[in-house]
Amino acid sequence: MPRSPSAARAAASLLTVDEALARVLARIRPLEPVETQLLDALGGVLAEDAVAGADVPAFRNSAMDGYAVRGTDVRRAGVRLRVVGSIAAGAMPAGAVSAGEAVRIMTGAPMPEGADTVVRVEDTDNGTDTVLVERATPTGAAVRQAGEDLRRGETVIPAGTPLRPAEIGVLASIGRASVRAVRRPNVAVLSTGDELVEIAEEPGPGRIRDANRYSLSAAVRAAGCAAFELGIARDEASDLRHALGNAAFGDLVVTSGGVSVGDHDHVKPVVDAMGSMDFWSIAIRPGRPLAFGELRTKRGTVPIFGLPGNPVSALLTFELFVRPALLRMAGHTKLHRPRARATLLDRVDKPKGLRMFARGVHDADAGTVRSTGPQGSGILRSMSLANCLIDLPEDATAAETGATVAIVRTDLPEDH
Ligand code: AMP
Ligand code: MG
Repeated sequence: MPRSPSAARAAASLLTVDEALARVLARIRPLEPVETQLLDALGGVLAEDAVAGADVPAFRNSAMDGYAVRGTDVRRAGVRLRVVGSIAAGAMPAGAVSAGEAVRIMTGAPMPEGADTVVRVEDTDNGTDTVLVERATPTGAAVRQAGEDLRRGETVIPAGTPLRPAEIGVLASIGRASVRAVRRPNVAVLSTGDELVEIAEEPGPGRIRDANRYSLSAAVRAAGCAAFELGIARDEASDLRHALGNAAFGDLVVTSGGVSVGDHDHVKPVVDAMGSMDFWSIAIRPGRPLAFGELRTKRGTVPIFGLPGNPVSALLTFELFVRPALLRMAGHTKLHRPRARATLLDRVDKPKGLRMFARGVHDADAGTVRSTGPQGSGILRSMSLANCLIDLPEDATAAETGATVAIVRTDLPEDH
């Protein structure tokens, strides 16, 4: 039972976290593909099928330093072969290998005609004129076949694949100096509040450092996007309007503060005048007020999030709503962090009716999770100590010690 008429009104208009996220994602589309220098595509999403233009490796070559031989000659140990040449990586064989012969060969060097097997140098006496094979070696050993990694004409990485170092290496091996990748979102980050000072300044009486601009810009970068800072807007409509004018250069805008119902909270009316903004009350602790809308710019409309000012609320609502939106914009299809269940080591109290994301430390091996201590929405340390969020459902009033709880691993990449 809500305790007061205002609480009842608030409860009636509360959105669940899942509803709010669905509404956000429904308005977000991937950005266009752009030709991207290969290394700059790391962390991005491939927007074309990458096809191998040739076999990789292009030629049969040795996987070991040793001797290129005929497999029939080395079926047993104790054979002595005549060494008829030597091939370094990058060189070409001078001639073929006949029965009873061996060619010294280095890792990566092309296999000479006639040879089908490499005896590792460790399995020989390392001879130069003749070589003693001290260990029987199966035919085909230590030879890399042409095309055994990638086949000419084969799609080696399909469109839509997130590019990790391994994919960058595969693309390099087929000669792609640049690839078409989904453009990386450019995100404008703005702090609002008369109390805020730049972090290098000594805050005067009643003032605090602007932590959110840094945590949120860092979260933008951690999502693989570029952040540009719009600075601090004072709690005046004109200042906000001016700052948001510069946001037009971004693909998405994130503000913090000024979205509660305090006397100086101007974000909603200002954005409404420059576009539209929905002001949502989400059934969540921490981070209840969240504004989401669109700014009209010369280039079209740009999504804008008005996050709450409390540092924990700001970073948490970024994690829950902005990060998935940015990932979708960047072309990713896995938007959700890995989830797990764990045994709670300490009791967590929560308000009934709100979904709570307590900050926790998950021990995956032990299958346990404990809270990071005081969970106030101003206690940013509760996030810095955490590797997960303990996801407690709306209807619960507490999670008891020993209970099995759901967790979200915020330190691991999205897996679904
Ligand atoms: P607001 O949402 O503007 O009412 O702010 C809520 C609380 O968050 C207040 O205590 C603010 O001082 C604080 N706050 C707002 N913006 C920031 C910021 N950029 N860095 C640190 N704290 C902030
Ligand atoms: Mg404020």
